[in-house]
Amino acid sequence: MKFHTTLFHRFESDGVPFAYVTPTAAVVQLDEMTSEIIDNFSDGEGAEPGPWLETLEVERQPQAREAFDELAAMGMLRPVGAPTAPPEQQPPMPYPLATLVLNVTNKCNLSCTYCYEYGEDRVSDQKKPDGTPRLPMMTEETACKSVDFLLKSSEGRNGVSITFFGGETLLNFGTIRAATEYAVGRGKERGRPVAFALTTNATMLTDEVIDFLVEHKFGVNISIDGNKGDQDRHRTFSSGRGSYDIIVPRIRKFLEKNRPHGRPVGARVTLTAGMAPVPETYHHLIDEIGFDSVGFAPVTSAEDREYALADGHMGQILSDFEILSQQYVEAALAGKRHGFSNLHDLIQEIHQGINKAHPCGAGLGLMGVSTEGELGLCHRFVESGEHGLGTIEDGIDEQKRSEFLNATHISKKIPCHQCFARPHCSGGCYHEAYVRYKDPASPNLHYCEWIRAWTDLGLRSYAAIAQGNPEFLRNYESASGAPAPVIEKDEVNR
Ligand code: SF4
Ligand code: SF4
Repeated sequence: MKFHTTLFHRFESDGVPFAYVTPTAAVVQLDEMTSEIIDNFSDGEGAEPGPWLETLEVERQPQAREAFDELAAMGMLRPVGAPTAPPEQQPPMPYPLATLVLNVTNKCNLSCTYCYEYGEDRVSDQKKPDGTPRLPMMTEETACKSVDFLLKSSEGRNGVSITFFGGETLLNFGTIRAATEYAVGRGKERGRPVAFALTTNATMLTDEVIDFLVEHKFGVNISIDGNKGDQDRHRTFSSGRGSYDIIVPRIRKFLEKNRPHGRPVGARVTLTAGMAPVPETYHHLIDEIGFDSVGFAPVTSAEDREYALADGHMGQILSDFEILSQQYVEAALAGKRHGFSNLHDLIQEIHQGINKAHPCGAGLGLMGVSTEGELGLCHRFVESGEHGLGTIEDGIDEQKRSEFLNATHISKKIPCHQCFARPHCSGGCYHEAYVRYKDPASPNLHYCEWIRAWTDLGLRSYAAIAQGNPEFLRNYESASGAPAPVIEKDEVNR
């Protein structure tokens, strides 16, 4: 039987060659023998292993046979004619939920220029199908019913998590408090731990709120764009006044109270055109304000927005990510954590061999709930009739869910089949695809080059840590090594 190599990506770390095997998401360190095998079997026509072995000196043949078998077991070699496309296998349905994102309000006290909630890029319908306006705040009753819905729709899982989102989430603190206390009680009754997370712009972090978040060990993610100039350029009140001077003292107070008992706190930066270099922003947020981690997400927007990122900006962001990645690796080699969460998340996926059939958990283990209890793919798709998936009262529309997951499976994204980065990207964010192509099932082909370069950077960083301090890789073995849970972490893949 003839064999040939599958899709893989060669890269180097400190002069040592490696390969990332796309069908299995395995990372293989190459030596002289494995490199020779790859070169010999890389022809699309393939080659027979037996005759090739006979061309080698007799004493090398056992080692060559063993190396060949190992590469085949890792998915690097396959018989000629074997299918090349990713298998169509769907997850077993109905898939149990793990996370529910409650959009407790669709109102905000800031008017950020790039916000998808208010711009032309919004997905949600501002009015209900009958023409009446949507409820601006989720009631305590809807939030508590959502908790029951989550516990019922997640049978088979031990713990579940609830993320509160907005608008500005803390505008509806009363409902957050009621739902959290209710979930703690219901979780205890059923022996099912419930974890909480929240995203906020930090304008409403009062002492009462801070004490509550610390007490319930919330994973808190704060949207902040960096220094005063960058923050105040886009993250303004409706009067046009910037928010930096209001939020920074509140954030400092929260970080101080949270540090002894709470979970790590993450900053989420939206990258737009004209901002300070990424490493400068990172060090401002970590060293001067005191965040535990920082994640960067390029703005999602149509190309003609003045803040949109063009190719040149994306190239600069990649160079900046390279600088932060070097700092991350240096820290890891010294056994220390570094807060660049984009790289942390990517290395964790590489280490765990994650090979995604769908780009994120939206519609799978994660769903969003609107203020009125409608279910959507995720927080960005709530209140969108077209992408609705049922209600917390009537349950999930399983047929629509299955049709969506079928249509967005990696096996349907033909341009991705020849891409080495697909285990990590799997076509990218549905919301971004909807904004760009008006089709959430479309692969995000506008940023492939960037994704491949970023994946290559993640692989090189991973290999450097694996070679220099393999003990450190334990930090990637469970979620406990990760910073605060951030529901939008899949968005920062590019
Ligand atoms: S990656 Fe996109 S589709 Fe997925 S959860 Fe995030 S915003 Fe929603
Ligand atoms: S969208 Fe582009 S980068 Fe992502 S898997 Fe598909 S081809 Fe690769």
